[in-house]
Order: sequence, then structure tokens, then C-alpha cells
Amino acid sequence: MLASFIMSVTPIALTPARLPDGSTPSGYIGRFAPSPTGPLHFGSLVSALASYLDAKANGGLWRVRMEDLDPPREQAGAASAILQSLEDHGLQWDGDVIYQSQRSHAYQACLDALLDAGLAYHCSCSRQDLTAMGGIYDGRCRNHQPNPEQICSVRLKLYDLPDRVTAEQIQFDDLIQGRQTQHLRNQAGDQILQRRDGFYAYQLAVVVDDIAQGITHIIRGSDLLEVTGRQLFFFALLGAPLPQFGHVPLAMQANGQKLSKQNHAKAIESQHASRNLWRGLAFLGQNPPSDLADASTSECLDWALHHWQRSAIHGLSHLHQEE
Ligand code: GLU
Repeated sequence: MLASFIMSVTPIALTPARLPDGSTPSGYIGRFAPSPTGPLHFGSLVSALASYLDAKANGGLWRVRMEDLDPPREQAGAASAILQSLEDHGLQWDGDVIYQSQRSHAYQACLDALLDAGLAYHCSCSRQDLTAMGGIYDGRCRNHQPNPEQICSVRLKLYDLPDRVTAEQIQFDDLIQGRQTQHLRNQAGDQILQRRDGFYAYQLAVVVDDIAQGITHIIRGSDLLEVTGRQLFFFALLGAPLPQFGHVPLAMQANGQKLSKQNHAKAIESQHASRNLWRGLAFLGQNPPSDLADASTSECLDWALHHWQRSAIHGLSHLHQEE
């Protein structure tokens, strides 16, 4: 049944046969997947830049996907502001931008296939119930039929997948952070795929879309390192090829807080695009020459592509003093 789900996944954003410079793509497909909860800040520029350079330096394609699944958290105009900032920094994506708000049919098809196969189930537990369980869902709704009148979430059953990954322990080699071992059952238990308010969960949409877009490499911020095991489990469960992951260090404020839209991190300014790129490259350990900060964005990116060294990226977290 799940195999038939995979077969029915409609590939989106078709790969152009030739890249703008006339070469053919290498098979590498990377992506940047911002949530439009605010404008692009230095931390998200670093993720965009790292995923762009890693894709392009490997002869690959770079997709942009707008993760606009959670309207209450979104900010009007943020999606177009993010795209404008990317363009102003010379980070041009391949193919069309995909909007998750337009992909409900694909998420629902996946949910239906999982429910039919008995791999997902309706859960009537509340947030308070979860807190009483110590934050790790204990699977109590796995075997009982909730009352159809009750508002339910949908959860994915964690279980051992023969020969591939087990729910107990998933190991993977992060391209930047090295070998990781995650214990899914102790981490969160059966994860939510559809919330009680009806919104599809990020964990569902991100994997369905990475499969549909044929993503082979996911370079992103290390705040998502801890959910990577769950995502790999889900890829394996759906019978999809496993992408490679690489997590770049997080840009922090001087007070140790992560730079994020929730913390109202400053928007990066397009009039300082080259300088922003230079700072991003320095943050990523690429050691850009000082005069590059005054070059054009295309000269900056050109230098960066020729000198890109994934292995030069520093360890897990990194302090960045905002200017
Ligand atoms: N949309 C997520 C965010 O902005 C990123 C998802 C991902 O890269 O997997 O935090």
C-alpha cells in the first residue's frame, strides 16, 4: 500500500535538462525551505548560502520551498520578502518555488495511505495528557477507536523497519556534524502528522515534499539536527531513498540566544548584500579574502563556489555578535 503511495507521488518542479551554464545536473538536488514567519535574517541567510553553495559546487540543482503551513505563525508579506532577499544576494533557485499551502492533496494522500496501512492512527490526547506523560507520547491511542465526534490528531506509529532503520536507534553520518545516533522512542514517541486543529504537521509535509522534489541533500541549520532521525525513519517507512543531511552551526546573538524570527532577529539588508555574503562565508569557515566584501554579489558567489569546502565548517554552535 505504501509502495503504491510512493508510486503515486507526483514529482514536482521538474528538473531542467540543462543548467544555465549549459552543463547537465549531477543528480544532486538541494533545497532551502524557509517558513515565512519573518524576513530573512543572518541565520537563515547562512542556511540558504550553505545549501546553495553545496549544491552548486557539486554541479547540482537548488530548490526553494516555502513552508507556509502554519498561518497563525506567518507574517504577511514575509514569503515575497524572503524571495526578494535571496535574489538580491544572487541566490537564484532552479525551477519554480513550491508553496506548501498548495500541497494539501499530497499530504492528505500520504495520511490516507498510512491510515489504511495501519501505520498511523487517530489520537484524542490533549496537550495536558502529553505533559502528564512527560512529553513522550506513550502510544495509548494506538489500539482504541476514538469516538468519531472527538477532535483528533493523527500520529505515526514508530516501529522497527526490517533491514533499514529501527525505531530504537537510528544512526546516520551527518555531512557536517559527523556520526549521529538518535533514539526515537525515547525522543518523542509516535509523532504527530496532522494536528488537532487540522493543520498538517511540518514532519509530514517536509518529508512528502522532499520526496516529491527528489531532494538528495539537505543542508540546513543545526536546530533541526534532533528531528533528523524521525525524518529518516519516515523516508524509510515510505520506501523512499534516504537523502544525505548536513547541519550548519546556528548563528547566535551575543546573549547566547539563537538568531530567529521568533526572537525578532534583524532582517538582512539588501543594500549590503556582498558584505552579508562575506560575513556568511566567514561564519561558514570559508575564510574569504577581505577585499571580497566590496566586490559584487556575483563575484562573491563565484569566489565561494570555487573555494567551497564543506569540511571547513565549524562545529555545532557558534557565537555571532550581531552588528
Ligand atoms: N521550514 C523550516 C524552518 O524554517 C526548515 C525546514 C527544513 O529545512 O527542513 O525552520
